[in-house]
Amino acid sequence: MTNEFLISLTKKYESPLYVYDAEKIISQYNKLTNAFASVKNLKINYAVKALSNLSILKVFKSLNAGLDTVSVQEVQLGLKAGFDPKDIIFTPNGVSLDEIEQAMDLGVQINIDNISILEQFGQKHPEVPVCIRMNPHVMAGGNQKISVGHIDSKFGISIHQLPHILRVVENTGMLITGVHMHTGSDIYDIDAFLRATEILFNVALSFPDLEYIDFGSGFKVPYKEGDIQTDIDELGEKLSKRFNAFCTEYGRNLTLMFEPGKFLVSEAGQFLAQVNVVKQTTSTVFASVDSGLNHLIRPMFYDSYHHIENISNPEGKKRFYTVVGYICETDTFGTNRQICEIKEGDILSFKNAGAYCYSMASNYNSRYRPAEVMVYKGKDYLIRERETIEDIINKQVLVTIDL
Ligand SMILES: *Cc1c(COP(=O)(O)O)cnc(C)c1O
Repeated sequence: MTNEFLISLTKKYESPLYVYDAEKIISQYNKLTNAFASVKNLKINYAVKALSNLSILKVFKSLNAGLDTVSVQEVQLGLKAGFDPKDIIFTPNGVSLDEIEQAMDLGVQINIDNISILEQFGQKHPEVPVCIRMNPHVMAGGNQKISVGHIDSKFGISIHQLPHILRVVENTGMLITGVHMHTGSDIYDIDAFLRATEILFNVALSFPDLEYIDFGSGFKVPYKEGDIQTDIDELGEKLSKRFNAFCTEYGRNLTLMFEPGKFLVSEAGQFLAQVNVVKQTTSTVFASVDSGLNHLIRPMFYDSYHHIENISNPEGKKRFYTVVGYICETDTFGTNRQICEIKEGDILSFKNAGAYCYSMASNYNSRYRPAEVMVYKGKDYLIRERETIEDIINKQVLVTIDL
């Protein structure tokens, strides 16, 4: 996508704007499936929470992917996008038995991540197949907030509790058809990941009726030039071989599952915002844009890096800028970044804005959430309109109390 094209989109749909490159999503999907080409049954379940626009889900449907969902509402989105319930896995964390039963009624694959609900569910619905989320306690994560494999993590059932799980399964007579792990985001150490898979293989041997093993996700994507990323080809080569050998040992071909979000959509997205003000203070030059933590919270929420380019002046001399939002709190997108000279009115592009950006957007400061556009083969498609004041007011109930 050229800068001119992107700028024309901000004129057509207004700024700020999310833009997604469908071809990048497709190429990431193909990269992953190619790396595991030697596995007979492979299923990639896209993690809906990363970017949940229906038209994006439909891209995954066309690719023959499944979906990984963490709420009943995400399940409903998946069904609306045309997915077969059997191609949707529900892997929530700490939700009520009631919500799990709603997902069960919708016909999707159930994944349970704690012994309490496992036992209650097994007693009520012993005939419904269930997948168990294990926590192998392998530290493979990036930072504390996104690392979910450590010993005191709230995610999954500890590997040390396997004997307890087996007693619950025997007692309820429930059917376990899958085992699952999701060690945490940003895996850059493939050997650490493979250690975790060994633990899961070992767990799998305890369950005779398995149909699949779900290795979760956490593939690291590059955020800037030269950034480390998960070597998918190396992972594919090593894990495929090991998985195929395990299937022989197990005595049956199982399905190998992954549930990536970030890997599939992060790099496909960019967020475009217009510079309102360039402000020189004593020691810093601020560029403030027509957006803020309401539209892209990741830098403020967990210090994630989003590369920022001035697409209105790509040949300009580089200068240092601190790029901030318009929200009445500190909302810094990037501190002292070298960016081509910025003038008021320029359009900045924030890279890696496909995953956990729009899906975490809010109406804070009573601002509208932006429009979303998907681009495929040079053509732009509006896939979500910008909100209006109606959306802000819609669900409010106006009450005037007599003082
Ligand atoms: C969030 C999540 C994912 C996706 O993680 P990424 O880092 O975006 O690939 C996969 N599985 C589960 C259970 C999740 O909660």
